[in-house]
Amino acid sequence: MTMRLTVDWTACEGRGLCGELLPELLDQDPWGYPMPREGGGTATVPAELTGHARRATRVCPTLALRLRRA
Ligand code: SF4
Repeated sequence: MTMRLTVDWTACEGRGLCGELLPELLDQDPWGYPMPREGGGTATVPAELTGHARRATRVCPTLALRLRRA
């Protein structure tokens, strides 16, 4: 099952926590805001990274990350 990770820019406060947990999918801008490598605020999550993506969504302090079926 393909999953997509989405960043809610209105909720994100930067600091880069998710980028540190999921560097395979998220770059960080100079202020620590996550920049999905695919652009557009979303990233396709390979099956082998689903667990890491779930963890990143759980620890986001502002609930700005969403993991959904593609
Ligand atoms: S963990 Fe949440 S608040 Fe922090 S940079 Fe990532 S999306 Fe933004």
